[in-house]
Amino acid sequence: MKPLTEQEIRTAFVNCTKGEAKRLSIPRDLADRPWDDLDFLGWRDPQAPERAYLVTTLDGRPKALQLRCPSPASWQIRRGMCSICLTSHTGGVSLMVAPKARQAGQQGNSVGTYVCSDLACSLYVRGKKDAGADGRIQESLTLEEKIARTVANIASFFAKVTGQRLA
Ligand SMILES: [Zn+2]
Repeated sequence: MKPLTEQEIRTAFVNCTKGEAKRLSIPRDLADRPWDDLDFLGWRDPQAPERAYLVTTLDGRPKALQLRCPSPASWQIRRGMCSICLTSHTGGVSLMVAPKARQAGQQGNSVGTYVCSDLACSLYVRGKKDAGADGRIQESLTLEEKIARTVANIASFFAKVTGQRLA
């Protein structure tokens, strides 16, 4: 994806207030992130590890989500598969819950999904990060097809949060 600036990321949040988006923690090393290998950038708040964020580009525009993940003590210890990139980890998949956008979110509605705890899905898909012996299932898909699937899974997660139907 194209590199994004802090300002672009702050204005891209779809499921928090403008005030929250202004205050939340954005990585300081944006310039050093491997954007060419990313389908989305995900990070945890270093001050509040139960908060995570991700930003991607949908239809040419940056879109970001705030997520909540249960405290480390309640992470899934059993083997789990990331629902975005389909990588399996032992203890490395976290339930991440996104408050829904607008009124639905204010009323407490949310959408949850299991995601790689380090949010590095793009790197697992490209084989740039190793999830262990049985991390990646053997598939006949090409890398491009796996990337397309990851992008589609992210888009469908955003669609659930914003309540929009996919075209
Ligand atoms: Zn993943």
